[in-house]
Amino acid sequence: MSYIKLNKQNLFYNLETCANHAGGKEKIAIVLKDNAYGHGLLQIATLANEFGLRKAVVQTYKEAITIEHLFDTILILADTKIDTFSHTFHVAVNSLNDLELLCENTNIHIKIDTGMHRNGIAHNELEVAILRALERKLNVCGIFTHHKSADELSSDFFYQDTIFKGLKEEMKNICEKLNVPKILVHSCNSAALFRHKNFDEDFARVGIASYGYLDANEVLGFPKLKPVLSLYAKKIATRILKKGQSVGYGGTYTATEDIEVSTYSVGYGDGFRRLGGKAYETADGKQVLGRVSMDNIVVEGSADEICIFDDVTRLAEIHNTITYEILTGQNANISREIV
Ligand SMILES: *Cc1c(COP(=O)(O)O)cnc(C)c1O
Repeated sequence: MSYIKLNKQNLFYNLETCANHAGGKEKIAIVLKDNAYGHGLLQIATLANEFGLRKAVVQTYKEAITIEHLFDTILILADTKIDTFSHTFHVAVNSLNDLELLCENTNIHIKIDTGMHRNGIAHNELEVAILRALERKLNVCGIFTHHKSADELSSDFFYQDTIFKGLKEEMKNICEKLNVPKILVHSCNSAALFRHKNFDEDFARVGIASYGYLDANEVLGFPKLKPVLSLYAKKIATRILKKGQSVGYGGTYTATEDIEVSTYSVGYGDGFRRLGGKAYETADGKQVLGRVSMDNIVVEGSADEICIFDDVTRLAEIHNTITYEILTGQNANISREIV
């Protein structure tokens, strides 16, 4: 059996760091999509509520329902099929067509494409969108955008930021003209938040930083944060591997002398992926021997349990990916315990 420990102190440290930079807890919306980046939706939502956050961001209506009682505002990024009305839910509009799908009185945030070209209306469609939303009796609560390279040293960040600044001005004028009350503005994910020296938007949508990572922190001088999730596994069996014997599928590790080894109940079924022949040391400094199975790994020694990782940075390197992908890959069925 593998299990996950969630470090509450580290989570609070990260949220505090973000809130200080943003100018207050009310300026942080914690991003909880994809099972809170693999950490556990309800567990992290409950802790974020205890910390004092009032806003969250999810991908779907189903996620929003699960945590409705814990927040005042929940932004739903990509789901227009909302079955029950709630003042808490704020639905992202990703295209002009979305405006036709939502029920009267739905709170909406209009997403604007400022250069990522993934979701959102074109930036010259803002007035058209607001007018149509008012006709459809939707509640226009916010406009927002998303950066394509906030965590890279490139001019795209400034380019998109400048376009969004222009949109904020345009929106002010439209609101005055149409007599619409104040509309919230937000453009920052974790990296973008820390790239702003004087953050002045209504809130930032903070995902990865809450969980203790900012992938480009050295290049861009971001603060050091503390990983929240660690993965543990219990021992299944211990044996002596004799000199010359090999272990696991394909027998890719062969003992050069007699050694004591144990199997632990974790594997790619849990989200701990095969290592492709690369060396990996667990957080307690034990080399993984041979291949990772679906539910087993082998390491030297006979400890009752081992800590597979308390930081996924090395695993992201091994798998040639980003920390996000390793974290979200943690199987939702693994039990989670808050420490
Ligand atoms: C996932 C997501 C975020 C959070 O990004 P991080 O880099 O994890 O902070 C913010 N905004 C949108 C629209 C997202 O999809």
